[in-house]
Amino acid sequence: LRDLVEDMILNKNSDATEKLLEYAENFKGDKKEKKKDLSWREAPFNERINHALVKGITDFIIEDVEEARHQFDRPLQVIEGPLMDGMNIVGELFGEGKMFLPQVVKSARVMKQAVSYLQPFIEEEKERNQDTSSKGKVLMATVKGDVHDIGKNIVSVVLACNNFDVIDMGVMVPCEDILKRAKEEKVDFIGLSGLITPSLDEMVHVAKEMERLEMKIPLLIGGATTSRVHTAVKIDPAYSGQVLHVADASKSVPAAQKILSTPDQFKTETKENYERMRENYHRKKEKKELISLARARELRTPIDWESFSSSEPSFLGAKEITDVKVSDLIEYIDWSPFFQTWRLKGSYPKIFKDEKYGEEALKLFNEAKEYLHQIVDENSLTCKARLGFFACHREDDDIIFQAKNSPVEKLCMLRNQRKLETSPNRSLADFIAPQGHTDYIGAFIVTSGIGLDKLVEKYKAQNDDYSVIMVQALADRLAEAFAEYLHLKVRKEYWGYASEENLSAEELIKESYAGIRPAPGYAACPDHTEKTKLFSLLEGSKIGVHLTESFAMTPASSVSGWYFSHPESRYFNVGNIADDQIQDYAIRKCMSEKEVRRWLAPIIEG
Ligand code: SAH
Repeated sequence: LRDLVEDMILNKNSDATEKLLEYAENFKGDKKEKKKDLSWREAPFNERINHALVKGITDFIIEDVEEARHQFDRPLQVIEGPLMDGMNIVGELFGEGKMFLPQVVKSARVMKQAVSYLQPFIEEEKERNQDTSSKGKVLMATVKGDVHDIGKNIVSVVLACNNFDVIDMGVMVPCEDILKRAKEEKVDFIGLSGLITPSLDEMVHVAKEMERLEMKIPLLIGGATTSRVHTAVKIDPAYSGQVLHVADASKSVPAAQKILSTPDQFKTETKENYERMRENYHRKKEKKELISLARARELRTPIDWESFSSSEPSFLGAKEITDVKVSDLIEYIDWSPFFQTWRLKGSYPKIFKDEKYGEEALKLFNEAKEYLHQIVDENSLTCKARLGFFACHREDDDIIFQAKNSPVEKLCMLRNQRKLETSPNRSLADFIAPQGHTDYIGAFIVTSGIGLDKLVEKYKAQNDDYSVIMVQALADRLAEAFAEYLHLKVRKEYWGYASEENLSAEELIKESYAGIRPAPGYAACPDHTEKTKLFSLLEGSKIGVHLTESFAMTPASSVSGWYFSHPESRYFNVGNIADDQIQDYAIRKCMSEKEVRRWLAPIIEG
């Protein structure tokens, strides 16, 4: 095909056109076969509506709903009748594992478009939406200081297509706003979502406020940073009402149903369960043995600095990387987390052979590619980055910047204090040369989220949650791909300490290269507040990336981190730290001990 196309474009032969047309004949049959089977259009309207909902087809839904509207006395009956019947089938199939999340979200899109078409007729009748036989009303919000909301969007869609009324307040929502709205709307549940660890504290705050205001509304907790243990240990004791951790979108419906059908019994059961988890947690916690900070420092990563000389980066200070486009990043995408987002279990590309998920995964993947092409064609997402390198050395667990005019004096790193038999008690500072040497640290911020809000708004206006979740998931993938791509360029060019490196995409995803790019807030450097230093060194605002009050990055599809080049550098867990380190760290950071304890709560109490 390529030869024929080249022959024609480059006008290599006089019969190039003929040959290409001849070749094209071979595909005619194929096309016919692929033509959509529309026999389902012959069925009565309620069956057509069922089919459209189960298959997620929006093409005819308005037409069919309009027909249905004429068969009933009131437009509301179309929702309560055929549309809900269809969604019940979807709910059952999903519950039985016969339908997967991408399909359910597509069904929800059909439902939403149908309901939105009927809305004006319902209003005309002066009917209020509340009159529908809604199973319950849920208020969803990502808490103050946090930005991510794919998971929450998914839960909203799953609840909505199970006939719950969902009020989605979006991201970064202050506690007062959540509780005020919950009262006004008389909701049956509040669902809080959070991605980063400081949000855990914010959720405890919301629970305490609900207790203070003597509220009774059940509180559902979800999101990447949350866990059953944290919910049991920290949130549940703060609120005498029902508290429940919902691990996954698919669990939200049965959980909500249980709370509504047997509220007292379910609350007692959950409270007892959480009480047991708390006891267990405290028992286990006592067993954890920590060594002194001084001893841990002695047991640092052994590195022979005398025989090591650091490569000098091609520039010092910070600058903007301007020449990267979405199309450059596609080949660096790690697709496995994308399937995870859509709750299809398996790693790419093996997932396509999976008996259960394979077919759906391949369909989703092909659609994702179409969305990506559209993003490229319409130039709807812009990628931007800031990159910097700084001369530095280590003093204990601090990394000291050597430039006189540096806006940041030092980075404060934490050290593992567990009693470890075999491996060192690491701190990221270990990977930087001690005083007397000159070493370098790199820093980066990448974003692919510029333009995403507009894209999301466009799809929301079309009642198309499927596309909303899809473009959010893709923008996240592009941000990670950008981080991978920039790291490669850093190793080979900007820093150039591994100019000979030649790894496949797969090896890149496995991170089989020399050096690391730890992200503040993650296990090796769990203090989110250090991100402010990264942002002031690199002037993140120059590319429109900012930190919220909990140090989450906006736009959400952004990644930031430090670069360490030493071949011994690796990712590790700081894990729990002891009082001596907390006090030492507070002094080094010029922060009150109380504040340090607040920000580091997950590794102090966790
Ligand atoms: N290919 C993955 C990459 C992200 S996960 C994707 O597309 O999603 C791996 C990244 O998480 C690392 O590059 C690093 O930035 C961060 N990370 C992993 N373990 C870490 C740790 N222990 N401490 C700090 N950051 C860590």
